[in-house]
Amino acid sequence: MENEGCIFCQIVRGEKPGKLVYEGKNLVAFKDIKPHAPVHILLVPKKHIRSINDLEEEDRAILSDLVFAGKKVAVEQGIDKTGYKLVYNVERGGGQYVFHLHLHLLGGWK
Ligand code: 5GP
Ligand code: ZN
Repeated sequence: MENEGCIFCQIVRGEKPGKLVYEGKNLVAFKDIKPHAPVHILLVPKKHIRSINDLEEEDRAILSDLVFAGKKVAVEQGIDKTGYKLVYNVERGGGQYVFHLHLHLLGGWK
């Protein structure tokens, strides 16, 4: 379920400092260390899943929770009305560099 060397697993386990902005049963959310937008939050499942390609039927609830958490955190961050992007990068060609599934919440542009 967990992956020793994975930085997002380490954040989930609380071994690496990272202030959580949200925690649910299946996921945590924290600020991206190198933001690409005024608000850039990563929504990360507690279960180690490499990428969208590796999703299994049993992961449907996790995926649903990620989107609902994205919606909730967007309200908390005050970007729901102005708008935002929810983005999955998939594998290297799709811009994925951390191989633990995550949903980017990006917004806050003027
Ligand atoms: P990817 O390109 O894999 O979709 O996105 C990975 C994201 O994770 C990048 O935006 C990167 O800035 C962020 N990131 C990488 N390492 C860390 C870290 O240790 N802490 C935090 N908060 N974000 C990280
Ligand atoms: Zn992991």
